[in-house]
Parts: sequence; structure tokens; C-alpha cells
Amino acid sequence: MRPTRALIDLDALRHNYRLARTLHGGRALAVVKANAYGHGAIACARALEPDADGFAVAILEEALSLRAAGIQKPVLVLEGVFSADELPLVIDHDLWIVVHHAGQLAMIEAATPGCALSVWLKMNSGMNRAGFEPSAYAHAWQRLSASGKVGEITLMTHLARADEPDEEATRDQIETFDAVTKDLPGPRSISNSAGILGWPDGHRSWARPGIMLYGADPMPAEGHGVRPVMSLESTVMAVREIAAGEPVGYGARFRAPRTTRVGLVAIGYADGYPRAVPDGTPVAVDGTLTRIIGRVSMDMLTVDLTDLPASGPGSRVELWGNEIPVNRIAQAAGTIAYELLCNVKRVQFEYTGY
Ligand SMILES: *Cc1c(COP(=O)(O)O)cnc(C)c1O
Repeated sequence: MRPTRALIDLDALRHNYRLARTLHGGRALAVVKANAYGHGAIACARALEPDADGFAVAILEEALSLRAAGIQKPVLVLEGVFSADELPLVIDHDLWIVVHHAGQLAMIEAATPGCALSVWLKMNSGMNRAGFEPSAYAHAWQRLSASGKVGEITLMTHLARADEPDEEATRDQIETFDAVTKDLPGPRSISNSAGILGWPDGHRSWARPGIMLYGADPMPAEGHGVRPVMSLESTVMAVREIAAGEPVGYGARFRAPRTTRVGLVAIGYADGYPRAVPDGTPVAVDGTLTRIIGRVSMDMLTVDLTDLPASGPGSRVELWGNEIPVNRIAQAAGTIAYELLCNVKRVQFEYTGY
């Protein structure tokens, strides 16, 4: 079998969850949407369940697969339902739902759920993506409350720019949320990972950490002590030596400036390694940093082994993980760690630290 794998360190995942909850105080929903940001939702939820106060996913299908795997802690569906006929599933599987627009509110008012729904009512405090306007929020709360269909209502909002230190827009979002919810009862939730790490003023009853659980600090300059969870690894399949001036790979993007030993590595963009990275992007071979040379192909990529004479076929290659932060590769590819992690596929997943 191809020795290309994503090694998932569940001890690091638990460490990061505990760190998130300690820094925030109160309770924390571990966000495991999008297959736990590409790490495997069921394995991650099982590893976290003894510690976690609950989980959050984006969509109902993700919540149902956690329940089918035996996860019993609360599960919040961040996008809520798309149609009223999903509400019986929400009740049957004891899920919590976000209500973020008037259509969802009307579905609940018209429903006959049989027992009380647990709802997180979302405010648009400035991101202008999802949520009730500040001016409509208290009225939405009154309607939900008066519907007789809901139990506890948690008051929530989401921050657009929490990863930017000292950003006025974040202060404004928190102030808006506080002003509008001042006279409403119930638990509150504002903080995603960046909010937990950078905005203690926004800490409330519940945190919603996602990316920091997976060890990619949204503000890496500050060193918060999150531990990488995924190591994306492969090996050198073959080596060739090329003369100065010879090209490597599609489009001959790289040309050897000197006699060069080229290592061929068994991973490509079909596995989720980004094609966009330039020549010189770091890669670790047998624990030593070297660089990608030539375009990343679908199933393979090429690295410079000229200064690593002891490395050759069978050498271990880390694309990201403990030696190379995934944030570094995301930056090289012009994207964010979230997207790289979610895109990992076709590789073997191996879990340590059960
Ligand atoms: C995805 C998501 C989170 C987690 O965000 P991170 O930046 O990964 O910590 C929190 N809250 C909501 C509403 C989300 O959609």
C-alpha cells in the first residue's frame, strides 16, 4: 500500500480542547463540522467525548452520523434546519439547533415537535452573513419563547475578525451583542478559536472552538501552546540526478541551478496537498527541512535532496505537522489552514493516543 498517511494525534486534540476550555472558562462545544476539519469526526468526537461539554457540526447529516456512532453528548447544528420535516429528526436524536433566519423561526412556530427544542438564537452583530438583525433580535426571541415549542434559548453571535488583534470591528460586535441581549435571560456564546485566544471580553457561558482543537493557531505569532494534531506524511519513492539547467515537472517551472538530486514523493493535489505552492515551499525529509521544486502534480511531488545525501528511497517526508506548521503551507498556498485540513483525502488515516 502507498505509505501516504495522515497521522492524527488524539492526545494533542484532547490537550487543545482542555486548553480552549481553560482559557475561555465556562463550557465549550468542540466544533467537529466538515469531518472534524478533515481529521475524522467520529474518531475525534469519541476521543473528546469524556471531556467535552458537547459538539457542534454544520449540518443535520453530520449530527446524525455522530449519533449513529454512539456519541451521546449534546450536538448543536450550526446551520439549523432547511425544512420543517427535519424537526422530528432533531427531536428524535436530541439535537440542539441554531435558528438564524425568519424562515426557521416560522418552521418552529408551525411545528408540533412533541417535546421542547433546544435553540441557539443567532444575532448578526456585524458579520452580515447569518443571524437576525440587532433590531429584530428581541422580537425573534419573544416569538420563539411564546411559541411554546422551545426550552432554553441560548443567545449567540459569531465574530468576523477575531483573528485581527485590537480590531475595532470585534469590539463593536461584542458591544452590539451585549446591548441587544441586555434584558434577555439565558446562556450566551460568542467565541470561536480566535475569540477564545484573543478576546477575553467576549468570553461568555459557551465557547465554540474549532481550528485551535486541530492545532492550527489562528494567530500564530502569539504562541498559545496549541499542539499540531495532523501530520501529513509520505515517503521518497525514487531519486534522480539532473544536470544544471534541466527542468523538473509540468511546465518546467523549476530549472536546476546546479547538479540536483530530485526526490519523488508519493503525494499530490488529489490527496489535498495544495497545487498552488511555489518552488521553495518547505518540506521535511528525515526530519531535515528542504524544499519543493517543480509543480505539485495530482499524485506526486518533487523535492530537493541535493543537500541531504543520506536521504533517498524510503525516506520519511512530512508535508505538515510537528516539523512544518500547516499555517506555513497555507500561507505559501495563499489560503488558510482550515481549507488545507478539510481537503485531505485518499490518504490512510492512522490514530494515536486513544
Ligand atoms: C466553524 C464555526 C466555529 C469554529 O470556528 P473556528 O474559527 O474554527 O474556531 C464557531 N462558531 C461557528 C458559528 C462556526 O460556524
